[in-house]
Amino acid sequence: MGNNQFIESNVRERSFIDIWDDPNSFKYNRKFTPEKIEENCQGCYYVERCKGGCNSVSLHMTGKLHNTSFCLRRIEEKKLDVKSSKTYKK
Ligand code: SF4
Repeated sequence: MGNNQFIESNVRERSFIDIWDDPNSFKYNRKFTPEKIEENCQGCYYVERCKGGCNSVSLHMTGKLHNTSFCLRRIEEKKLDVKSSKTYKK
C-alpha cells in the first residue's frame, strides 16, 4: 500500500505460503475488529463484512485504515436521500 508498515516479509527469505499462513501476517485485515473502524464508517451495519472499505484508498485519502471516503453504499444513500435502517451496534 505504498507504506513500509505493510511489508509482511520477503519471498527471498520465506516462501509465499509461509508468509500467507503466518497468523501474524496481514494483521490490519485479519485481526480487524469493529472497534477499529474510523469515523467515515461509524455505525454502518456492514462493518464486520466490509471492514471500512478499501484500506489502500482509506489510508491515502484519510490517513487512517478502515475509513474509506469512497463508499458506494453511502454515495447511493445520499443520492437517493435515504438512510439505511440498519445500523451496527457494538
Ligand atoms: S465503506 Fe461503506 S459499507 Fe463499508 S463499512 Fe464503511 S460505510 Fe459501511
